[in-house]
Amino acid sequence: MLVSAKEMLTKAKEGHYAVGQFNINNLEWTKAILLTAQELNSPVILGVSEGAGKYMCGYKTVVGMVNGMLESLNITVPVALHLDHGSYEGALACIDAGFSSVMFDGSHYPIEENIAKTKELVRLTGEKGISLEAEVGAIGGEEDGVVGAGECADPDECKMIADLGVTMLAAGIGNIHGKYPENWPGLSFETLDAVQKKTGKMPLVLHGGTGIPADMIKKAISLGVSKINVNTECQLAFAEATRKYIEAGKDLVGKGYDPRKLLAPGFEAIKVTVKEKMELFGSVNKA
Ligand SMILES: [Zn+2]
Repeated sequence: MLVSAKEMLTKAKEGHYAVGQFNINNLEWTKAILLTAQELNSPVILGVSEGAGKYMCGYKTVVGMVNGMLESLNITVPVALHLDHGSYEGALACIDAGFSSVMFDGSHYPIEENIAKTKELVRLTGEKGISLEAEVGAIGGEEDGVVGAGECADPDECKMIADLGVTMLAAGIGNIHGKYPENWPGLSFETLDAVQKKTGKMPLVLHGGTGIPADMIKKAISLGVSKINVNTECQLAFAEATRKYIEAGKDLVGKGYDPRKLLAPGFEAIKVTVKEKMELFGSVNKA
C-alpha cells in the first residue's frame, strides 16, 4: 500500500540520512526503482512530473500501475507516490487519483499567492493523510519546459511556508535541474543553514540531485536535507545502456529485437544508479 512521505522523512531527518525521490517514466522505470528499494530495504519516493503523468496516460493509470506492482512484486518497504512540481490543478487531480504525496510548486507566484494556495492544499491533503511539499525560491534549469536560473530562497519566506503545516519544503540553494554547467558555483550551504535554522524540524528537499558531488550531498544531508530528487541521472544511465546494446548490434542477433531484451540493459542501468544513490543518501536498511 502506498504511504504518505511524512513518516519516512521524519525518521530520515532524525537519523541524518535522506530518502531518494526517483522520477518514473514508464513500467521499466517503476519496476527497476521498486525492486531496488526492496532489495536494499530502503524507503523510496516515486516522483511523477505533470509531463510524465500525461505521457503515462494520466494519473489514474500511474496509480493503477504502481499499486499493481506493489502487490505483484511483494514490495513491503515504504513507498510514496508523489507529484513532482505540481500546479495547483495538478495537485488536486493527483489527490483525487490516489497519489499519497504531492508537491505544489508555487515558487513562481508572488509569496502571498504561494501562501494562499499552499494553505488550501494543506487543508485538502491533511484530510486524506497525504504529504505535501512546497517550494520557495525557484530551482534552476529546465523541467517540463520551464527554465529557471537557480535562485537562493529567502529563509524568512521559507519559515512562512513551513509554518502553514506542509510536510516538507524545497528551498532553492543554487541547485539546478538536469546537467550542471561547468561554471556552476556549487550549493549555497549558507542559505541551507539559514533555512534549516528558521524551519527547525521541517524535512528539507534538495532538487536537481544529478551531478552534485558526493561531498556536497553529504554536507546538505548534515544541514537538514531529508529528501533528494534524482531524475536526469536515471535517464542518462538508461540511454547509455540502450545505445550500447544497439551499437553492439545485439538487437540484430536472434530475438534481440524483443522489447523485453532491448530494454533490459537500460532497466539494469537504472537499478545500478538507484542503488548508488540510496547508498550515498544513507537510506539502505532504513525501511
Ligand atoms: Zn525539481
